[in-house]
Amino acid sequence: MSLLKQSIPTKLLDDNGMRLDGRRLDELRPTKLEMGTLKRADGSAYIEQGKNKILVAVYGPRELHPHHLALPDRCLLRCIYRMASFSVEERKSPAPGRREIELSKVIREAIEPALFLEEYPRAGIDVYIQILQADGGTRCASITAASLALADAGIPMRDIVVACAAGKVEDQVVLDIDDVEDKYGTGDMPVAMMPRKNEITLLQLDGIFSPEEFQKALELAQQGCKQLYELQRSVIKEKYKTIREEVGGDEKKEK
Ligand code: ADP
Repeated sequence: MSLLKQSIPTKLLDDNGMRLDGRRLDELRPTKLEMGTLKRADGSAYIEQGKNKILVAVYGPRELHPHHLALPDRCLLRCIYRMASFSVEERKSPAPGRREIELSKVIREAIEPALFLEEYPRAGIDVYIQILQADGGTRCASITAASLALADAGIPMRDIVVACAAGKVEDQVVLDIDDVEDKYGTGDMPVAMMPRKNEITLLQLDGIFSPEEFQKALELAQQGCKQLYELQRSVIKEKYKTIREEVGGDEKKEK
């Protein structure tokens, strides 16, 4: 058993105003996005954002079980956010806790506005989110990956939803806080949005922000979202470029 515990940082910003992991105040963590990771799901995606590692699988729209949950006028979207026992420093109980149940709801509400649920009455869409490794900002990274998995499943959407948090450390507004900044900083503001429509679908706030800090954090989070959106778009484009090449290749073979 490891007896090494994370040391409590005395400062979150160095003398040059850089963060503990070497980032500028307005810099995202290095992010890797992938779609179509799982072969058996209708759609899937994987995200690494800093030390976060998250896998998402989407099923549906499909017949809903149990039937009594079916809605007569629209599809039921279910999001299931779960942290693996090994995803955090101390073993997490595998039983879903209150936080996981709450985050499942928060994520569902952030994604729902992008979907045409009224098109599939009585059906269900399930979004399984598995946190393999957590390091702060998992709800936002989950939303970013879940949208990509929904796109991979070919589910029509009004826009892709993307999410990113801003926060406050040592009275400075910073982008994309990690676990240490979340724990020892003074504010956390997760934001999800549909960038093309410029609509915010999630805004939470933990900590105390002055009106100016609030405005700055909101703008910074939206800038972060737009950068991640470009990454989502490039991953989607790449996938469809590959499919087109494959389909084109088949046509050639038929001739
Ligand atoms: P988010 O991951 O969206 O920021 P929280 O603010 O609730 O959500 O959690 C912040 C971070 O705290 C998580 O990303 C994770 O690194 C850590 N954390 C959450 N739950 C646990 C837990 N049960 N044990 C240890 N660390 C946890």
